[in-house]
Amino acid sequence: MIRVLSVASECVPLVKTGGLADVVGALPAALKGAGVEMRVLLPGYPAVLAALEGSEVLEEVDAFGGRLRLLAGRAAGLDLLVLEAPHLYDRPGGPYLDPQGRDWADNDARFAALSWTGARIGAQGAGGWMPDVLHGHDWQAGLMPVYLKDAGHDRPTVLTVHNIAFHGLTAAARMGALRLPAWAFHPDGFEFYGQISALKAGLVHAWRITAVSPTFARELATPEHGAGLDGVIRSRGGDVRGILNGIDTASWDPMNDPAISGFKSPNGKAANRSALMAECGLVEAGGPLAVVVSRLSDQKGLDLLLAALPAFLAQGGQLALLGSGDRRLEHAWLAAAEAHPGQVSVKIGYDEALSHRFYAGADAVLVPSRFEPCGLTQMYGLRYGAIPVVARTGGLADTVIHANAAALTAGCATGLVHDPQSVPALEEALRQLCALHAQPAAFRQLQKNAMKHKVGWEASAPLYAALYARLADSHATEKA
Ligand code: ADP
Repeated sequence: MIRVLSVASECVPLVKTGGLADVVGALPAALKGAGVEMRVLLPGYPAVLAALEGSEVLEEVDAFGGRLRLLAGRAAGLDLLVLEAPHLYDRPGGPYLDPQGRDWADNDARFAALSWTGARIGAQGAGGWMPDVLHGHDWQAGLMPVYLKDAGHDRPTVLTVHNIAFHGLTAAARMGALRLPAWAFHPDGFEFYGQISALKAGLVHAWRITAVSPTFARELATPEHGAGLDGVIRSRGGDVRGILNGIDTASWDPMNDPAISGFKSPNGKAANRSALMAECGLVEAGGPLAVVVSRLSDQKGLDLLLAALPAFLAQGGQLALLGSGDRRLEHAWLAAAEAHPGQVSVKIGYDEALSHRFYAGADAVLVPSRFEPCGLTQMYGLRYGAIPVVARTGGLADTVIHANAAALTAGCATGLVHDPQSVPALEEALRQLCALHAQPAAFRQLQKNAMKHKVGWEASAPLYAALYARLADSHATEKA
């Protein structure tokens, strides 16, 4: 059994703002069968502490402006290590934002403390449990390999990039407060144009880097998608690889989902579709019912969708959106719903159970992202027979097979992929969706193909397990 410490700022079902949480929460169970014992280190947010059962204090230390207590316990079937630090985490709001939607001013320290604690566990273990490999996720765990190196330890580290757009930047003057070593502050270390970049720290110092899809791994090495870090990615050469995310097929199972009327074939979706139409106040117009479940941010291309909406509605299409985020986009979408009563429904907020009802009731899931490291909503769509209509970028390109004539004939088509990410291309994809939807037999076949498509962890869990095993072996060999 290989022991791995996963270090992250979100984890389903305890705290979630996006796909990172789904992946961190699903990996331990997915890897168990592959010979990996994974524990997850999380910040002690109120929701995490409230869920923790049988907790035990393993260590107490004063650092990062207060008392840090490392707790061990279980919650939601996961083996957790929790960093209890009320001065950093005991607050209302989300993991990164205050109730007004602004970044917490001390986010640098909040996640530096998490990374520092991960490194400490890598150096000395936790309650007698010593991980063979440390696996950090995104910038919030980016500093972990630096702390570990600075303490003179060489335990293998992996950093997974779920999103390159968040760097965890902070002023160089924060070096002391964050306990960062001066030796690593230079352009080949974690300096990013005069600032500290937590993500760059991980990209430079982790033993291996993974990206959440093969296409995203290739894109990261390009100036267009590398967000200023493409040079760092290129310099890491073969240390970078893409491992496609899976979804937790047990909690996302259309036959066994408490949030919906269970179904095992596209025909069984009808009851969910009518229920969703009624819940959203939509009136049948004969075309496809498309849904969006998304953070509202520039990344997601939902401004493009707003522009493509009139043409889609004119063909009998209907749209229900569930999302929150950028206030400007929230207002624009609410205005679209007001302009098209009965055709467009917009729910601003975050609602996990409602998201299940959206996928179960929809004919299509729209993901017009400008970039998308992996994307999970198109995979929930596949699993629930809601045809994904996606932009050809990142993991969207790796998970959806475009329904051109050849793929339809071969019986492997699962959705519609458009390229470039533009309003005309999106309008054309939505026109194709309406045309396919108007041929019930062909559309049912597409839905069946989608529901059969493998979206679980069966392919990717062994890739992570093999990566950990190689790292643990090479570490043991070096020590021998
Ligand atoms: P990202 O991580 O960039 O937000 P992903 O597609 O990888 O995008 O993951 C998004 C996850 O968050 C999915 O599980 C999706 O169902 C969920 N989600 C996004 N917005 C909402 C919302 N408003 N309500 C419920 N679930 C949401």
